[in-house]
Amino acid sequence: MIGWILKKILGSKNQRELKRLMPIVRRVNDFDEQFKSLSDEELRAKTAIWKEELAKIPELEDQWKRLDEILPEAFAIVKNAARRLKDRQDSFTVCDQPMKWDMVHFDVQLLGGIVLHRGRIAEMATGEGKTLVATLPLYLNALTGRGVHLVTVNDYLARRDAEWMGRLYDFLGLTVGCIQHDQEPDLRREQYAMDITYGTNSEFGFDYLRDNGMATTREQQVQRGYYYAIVDEVDSILIDEARTPLIISGPATISTHQYDRWKPLIEQLVRKQNMLCNRMASEAIEKFEQGNVEMGGRLMFKVKLGQPRNKQLLRMMEDPDKRRAVDKAELSFYQDTRKEELFALKEELFFTIDEKSNEADLSEQGRNFLNPDDPNAFVLPDLINEFTEIDLDPSLSQEEKDKKKAERQQHCDEQAERIHNISQLLRAYCLFEKDVQYVIEENKVVIVDEFTGRKMPGRRWSDGLHQAVEAKEGVQIDRETQTLATITIQNYFRLYQKLAGMTGTAETEAAEFHDIYKLDVNVIPTNRPVARKDHNDRIYKTRREKYNAVINEIRDCHVREQPVLVGTVSVEASELLSRMLKREKIPHNVLNAKFHMQEAEIVQRAGQPGTVTISTNMAGRGTDIKLGSGIPDKGGLFVIGTERHEARRIDRQLRGRCARQGDPGSSRFYVSFEDDLMRNFGAADRMTRIMERFGLEEGQELEHRWLNKSVETAQKRVEQRNYLIRKRTLDFDDVMNMQREVVYTYRNEVIDSEEPRTLIYEVVDEAVPAKVKEYLGAERDEEPNYTGLLHWVNTTFPLGLTKEKAQFDTRTVDENAQFLTGRIKDAYERKSSHEEPTAVKSLERYIILNAIDRLWQEHLYAMDALREGVYLRSYAQKDPLIEYKTEAYDMFVDLMANIKNEDAPARGRQLQPVGAMAAVAGDGDGAGEMTLDLPIRRAMPKVGRNEPCPCGSGKKYKNCCGRVA
Ligand code: ADP
Ligand code: MG
Repeated sequence: MIGWILKKILGSKNQRELKRLMPIVRRVNDFDEQFKSLSDEELRAKTAIWKEELAKIPELEDQWKRLDEILPEAFAIVKNAARRLKDRQDSFTVCDQPMKWDMVHFDVQLLGGIVLHRGRIAEMATGEGKTLVATLPLYLNALTGRGVHLVTVNDYLARRDAEWMGRLYDFLGLTVGCIQHDQEPDLRREQYAMDITYGTNSEFGFDYLRDNGMATTREQQVQRGYYYAIVDEVDSILIDEARTPLIISGPATISTHQYDRWKPLIEQLVRKQNMLCNRMASEAIEKFEQGNVEMGGRLMFKVKLGQPRNKQLLRMMEDPDKRRAVDKAELSFYQDTRKEELFALKEELFFTIDEKSNEADLSEQGRNFLNPDDPNAFVLPDLINEFTEIDLDPSLSQEEKDKKKAERQQHCDEQAERIHNISQLLRAYCLFEKDVQYVIEENKVVIVDEFTGRKMPGRRWSDGLHQAVEAKEGVQIDRETQTLATITIQNYFRLYQKLAGMTGTAETEAAEFHDIYKLDVNVIPTNRPVARKDHNDRIYKTRREKYNAVINEIRDCHVREQPVLVGTVSVEASELLSRMLKREKIPHNVLNAKFHMQEAEIVQRAGQPGTVTISTNMAGRGTDIKLGSGIPDKGGLFVIGTERHEARRIDRQLRGRCARQGDPGSSRFYVSFEDDLMRNFGAADRMTRIMERFGLEEGQELEHRWLNKSVETAQKRVEQRNYLIRKRTLDFDDVMNMQREVVYTYRNEVIDSEEPRTLIYEVVDEAVPAKVKEYLGAERDEEPNYTGLLHWVNTTFPLGLTKEKAQFDTRTVDENAQFLTGRIKDAYERKSSHEEPTAVKSLERYIILNAIDRLWQEHLYAMDALREGVYLRSYAQKDPLIEYKTEAYDMFVDLMANIKNEDAPARGRQLQPVGAMAAVAGDGDGAGEMTLDLPIRRAMPKVGRNEPCPCGSGKKYKNCCGRVA
């Protein structure tokens, strides 16, 4: 209330901020007036003058100050150039289509441009011309010569906008490039060398990973820094895609999966469970008929645990009484005092599935079914106890003990793998539906993005889930892959010195943009008042009724020739609607965000008389829908949403597709109680009450302002939850991010070093004294181990020292260290002097890089395992993040030590780069051996919640500490 009053008196913060920018807009327009008298050449000459001037300013900060000063003039130059192009009316091509320039920046667009230059997010409605807005700050910032990037959501838009706006840049004397998926490195490098570069987030991100994580020479790298980026459709990229990191992966070295083997049994198990659940559902119906509501609710709850998508269950949920009964049962079981009972209830099933958290858990019964002869096949052995027993056995020698332990460890790993495979198969069968979460194409499982409905070929679910789904569908099971390089979108964009974004919908997520990216949002007013009419939602009991109503509405529109755009949340829903429309013989187009260019053309025509366009929410995004003639009189474009999305933002995005630039237009959402949002996130409770109040009958609908509110409350709840998940992803990735930076910086140092040998010598200077100290016992009171040191030296370096030549006992520890490093360097110099110097250098570089890469990849693998492992600890009231941070830190210290100077005695293999010196130098032990194996990969057993705790207490995992000793 207070906030509201203050707003009335003072104007909102946003209004105040914009008001402060208005004088700048006026100055731009004054300059624009002045520049009208210049010739084209004079206008263009400014670009070169500024570029030259800025090139002389060494510090970025000072360059920025200068940019702020020249902003009004620079923006005016761009606007003036746009006018000249408009006057000329000459034709150019954009994506193979002829085009004429017809835009001069509006004042609100200048305003947007200033906001973008200042590293903020400009919220500007669809159709307000954000593509043109970006030209202003891109021009200005490109004057520094540092290369600026514009990030689009797909390749087609990157190309379209680069070619379209390229007309203007070209006129102004700036070069523009465009990254496309299929470009070779040489071509990419050319594009990045341009003043301005357009491309998608994943192309930019993958280029970063390839440049810093894989390239072995400067010549192989394509990017040239991260100075300024504007992210178009910034909400889609920084929020919707934030949970999927970019990963470059290669085939794993070993694969031990057993998905094929377990598939038939799991299939049977799922079938058995479904039969059981059907029986329970029928029983529940009986109980309800007998008036035993409590028992009925309890049975329904059990079905929900065992088979959340059971048909009878879903039907029963439509009945308010029954729904209430099951909610009551569910609530009461989650009370602490009834933990045991809930556990017993779960044990009556073969396994339980949690729809919200995507988890599957095997029960005792389930385990018995899968392996009646050995119910322990799915229980992790108690390693700690076993190890202790082995240690205490006096009849065993140390060697035998080690051997026995290794055997037990291997056994444990196998069990863990099996448990893991089975739980992934259960998830694949019970939670992943074909044509919803994935489709099968060309004998491959292709993931469908849950937010956008877009297919994502090449992406794979991690941690074996993908293989499990492949097994389920009977397609070729690909080898498991291993991460070679990875970064989250969030962390990629954090690399930029300055970041800005634009979209039609940022306001609802303003807090997240601020907290995570330090990006503030300014809402820019539209050029003309918005004339869109947003109707209240229509709410139905069942999906069937909802879809029928949607079809009726479409038919009405089609008859009066009003164009209609129907938004869906999944490919599946699009296809269903399409089938229904075909039955009605209503011609229509379906867009699934698959063929961006063709779909853009279709969307462009979606405003013509009588067109019906069905589209998932990413399809055709970024393309303007212009109204056909006579359409404004028919009410403009009508947008129908067939389901409320999890995020309000996506709904706003859909509504925003109509009524651009002051056009007429209207929108309405259709909702049913069976929609996922309503079922899963609390909306159902309230709705149940509402249904009763209104006594909703078959085929009837509800429509009221406060019903919308109720839906939005559910959405806010989901938004909050999703935000926390994203935040969590980021918190975890932060740890890795710091490490990645250290490693990549070191890597680039190696690539850039003119004298890689000095880097190797640095390593020798660090590693050899450490070893000498270790053998000669500087800290401990032990006898110096001269023989050991001699052995180490001779096996690591081809020195051929003998006792007589070494004479360790005549020198102090430090003198020995000096003596050895000297001898090693001498030998190295002597050997390499016979070789071609550049060849030696590149070999040296390669050796160090190779060592870094192998170790880093191993580290990534271990970090994956750790990340998974720490989640188990959350049961023990430990914050997994803190656990992760601590262990990740230890592992990283190990990693750096390993990169710099350690060898791996356990495997007896030579480690780089110390060992590699031997390789360069010639005849040492382990020469040419480039494979590294590291002890950093710690076993992280995967333990089910009902399995014994790995600490060895004998208690169940979920009730114990979760410590892996
Ligand atoms: P947005 O990305 O904001 O949704 P677009 O950049 O796709 O919008 O532009 C939408 C339409 O508005 C395009 O057809 C473009 O030609 C037109 N447009 C943009 N700015 C202007 C302008 N200043 N004058 C005239 N037309 C403009
Ligand atoms: Mg756009």
